[in-house]
Amino acid sequence: MVLKFEYDPLDNEHAGGHWYHVCRGRIEDQELRVPPPDTPYECPRCGIELEAEDFWIAQQRGSV
Ligand SMILES: [Zn+2]
Repeated sequence: MVLKFEYDPLDNEHAGGHWYHVCRGRIEDQELRVPPPDTPYECPRCGIELEAEDFWIAQQRGSV
């Protein structure tokens, strides 16, 4: 798992929840924003790239 989505029905501003990067098995404290389509988020620690599509999949499944 590299991306976790926590559902928050009270938060209408952020697609109903928050995304968190799971870095080397640990969930990071700082939430992520969905990146622009051509600019994936790259983690400086583990080097993984998370594309916008990954965020939408995580939103549907709970995690990627
Ligand atoms: Zn990472």
